[in-house]
Amino acid sequence: AAKAAGRNQWRFFEPSMHEHVSRRLALESALRQAVDDPLRGGLSLVYQPQIDADGRRLLGLEALLRWDDPALGPISPAEFIGVAEDAGIIDRLGAWVLQTACRQLAAWHASADAPLFAQVRLAVNISPIEFARPGFVDHVRDALRDLGPATRLVELEITESLLVQAGADVTERMRALTQLGVELCLDDFGTGYSSLGYLQRLPIGKLKIDRSFVNGVPGDPDSAAIVRATLSMAHDLGLRVVAEGVETPEQRDFLRLHGCDAFQGWLYARAMAPAELLAWLRARQPGPA
Ligand code: C2E
Ligand code: MG
Ligand code: MG
Ligand code: MG
Repeated sequence: AAKAAGRNQWRFFEPSMHEHVSRRLALESALRQAVDDPLRGGLSLVYQPQIDADGRRLLGLEALLRWDDPALGPISPAEFIGVAEDAGIIDRLGAWVLQTACRQLAAWHASADAPLFAQVRLAVNISPIEFARPGFVDHVRDALRDLGPATRLVELEITESLLVQAGADVTERMRALTQLGVELCLDDFGTGYSSLGYLQRLPIGKLKIDRSFVNGVPGDPDSAAIVRATLSMAHDLGLRVVAEGVETPEQRDFLRLHGCDAFQGWLYARAMAPAELLAWLRARQPGPA
């Protein structure tokens, strides 16, 4: 009887819901395989430039994870990061991202193109669930092991959701990370609900204004007010500010007028695989005089 009832319950699922569940299961199983063998599983990192206010100097790169599954095709991180979190594999996935990004940085510094990367920072996204896992600080320490002085170039992008419940443990962990030499950057700033008090209490060096606000400037008065207030507050607190999702010259001009420190978005460049990034950087170099 229980079995029959169980089977009958499927009648209450909309077909779309059933499809949603089976896609989720397919993604989860494929992602587990990918984490076991990242290169065969189609995982890779691409790097998006962050540029200074003059539009000339490369200040940093944000590492963004890509997944092109051999069977399922390309899947957006907006979809698969959540799957990895729910499936309990975000810490292994995140450890691979950190390892790969740090190795890439070391490889750039060891290559003939090292001058192009001399002071270029490298930002890596950290999921709040990954941050909260017991082995997280060890994963970061392992990834940084061979970087030497380049450790100071590494930034971890965390989100406000992490700080909402920022108890002593979260604060302590943030301090442990900054003691390793990395900088903490608050991603998607303005989209959370946490108090601003943590900005001076916690060891955060940088804010990243969320794309939704950058999108609205200069035309939308609310976005403009939020962006101006964020820039002035951050600078008063001694924090640097990056704008994400800069797509138009009008957005750039507004941000520049209000003192934004770094610019990231399609107006400048999309995220690129290492070979494409190198070609992009070389093409931007001023030619021999
Ligand atoms: P995010 O960290 O806020 O990353 C910025 C996202 O905006 C990226 O999407 C980037 O490709 C996109 N973007 C950059 N410039 C523009 C622009 O001018 N216009 C528009 N429309 N979009 C722009 P992506 O790569 O799809 O990543 C989405 C989110 O997935 C990221 O948001 C981040 O939260 C997460 N994510 C990506 N890689 C990782 C990772 O390695 N680990 C973790 N935990 N999360 C990641
Ligand atoms: Mg980010
Ligand atoms: Mg962001
Ligand atoms: Mg974002």
